[in-house]
Amino acid sequence: MNTGRFCADCGSTQVPLFENFCQECYWKIHSLGKLKRDYIEIPLCLICNAVKLSSGWTGSNQVDEIPEILAYAHLKLLQSDEDTISNIFEIDDIPWGNSNPVFQIYYNLTYDGITEFTTHTETFTLTLKLVGGNCSLCIRKKTGSGESTVQFRAKNRNLAPEEEDIATNIAFALVAEKENESPDAYLADVYESYGGLDFSFGNVAIAELFVEKLKKKWIHHTEKNYKLVTEDKDAKRIYQVTFLFKIPEVKVDDYVVFQNDLHRVKQVSAEYISLISMLNHHLITTTDWVDLKAIDPTPYLITKLVVALDSVNESYLLMDLRDYTSEEVNVNRFPNSLNVSNEVNLLVWENQYYLPI
Ligand SMILES: [Zn+2]
Ligand SMILES: [Zn+2]
Repeated sequence: MNTGRFCADCGSTQVPLFENFCQECYWKIHSLGKLKRDYIEIPLCLICNAVKLSSGWTGSNQVDEIPEILAYAHLKLLQSDEDTISNIFEIDDIPWGNSNPVFQIYYNLTYDGITEFTTHTETFTLTLKLVGGNCSLCIRKKTGSGESTVQFRAKNRNLAPEEEDIATNIAFALVAEKENESPDAYLADVYESYGGLDFSFGNVAIAELFVEKLKKKWIHHTEKNYKLVTEDKDAKRIYQVTFLFKIPEVKVDDYVVFQNDLHRVKQVSAEYISLISMLNHHLITTTDWVDLKAIDPTPYLITKLVVALDSVNESYLLMDLRDYTSEEVNVNRFPNSLNVSNEVNLLVWENQYYLPI
């Protein structure tokens, strides 16, 4: 075998070489592949021993089937060239005495494509932690309800994109916070529906929590509805719980009629709507939002010249510079005094002038 050649790394002679390396040195610098993840937490149903895989919940299992199910399900995490053979090498026993048992699965990659060398094997370790909870099926059985939807709507209008963003962010943050506590506390889907958004949750509890979070954001109207989905084999009725969360028609900066006069919406909060009176610029709040709607057509702006102040009649003489018509307007129309000989922008609504904010 002595050809006068030697390993480029360790210098050994008398050994088979491939690409100028001995077998040992060659595999120090080459690898058959990798494991995409080496640690995964697996939700486990404490009622039926279902486990949640990336494809969803398995059905109920025998406890002693779980190691193999998990080992086969995660074989796909091994990445290698196609002429490399992957297989499960060994599975540790699950320490069931532990409430969140951790155990290892060992995978092998095997390659015999280098004729100069003997077959090469690399072992990869995947650590799994089982986290107890309830599978969606057991929760449905327990609560007698199906998956739960929250319908997020605005009264008489489509939701604004920023309103959709706020609610969606709340939903994702909530699920990220709760999913570890309950494997069923997931957000299954968010979709546009009737000018609003429907949030489909894995269980009623998480949907209800979502509604509570929305309540802290907007003044609202809510409804909880039960829809009969089916009857199971024991004639137990299965309901789906649907929540409706409706926010006001008006948004910030809308003009509204309130107490028979023009107001502008300043804020829509969780407890009230605050409005600015366009007559005196005072701020008022109301919880009586249901009948508030943006006026249409909206007030428009005009420019007038303040020609004079008549202090006897307490009125301004205002002139329209387009046609030089003028008129007297009582000083009480405006919360601030107008500067004589200046131009002023005024809002017009129903033939009345208002000083814009
Ligand atoms: Zn070597
Ligand atoms: Zn279960």
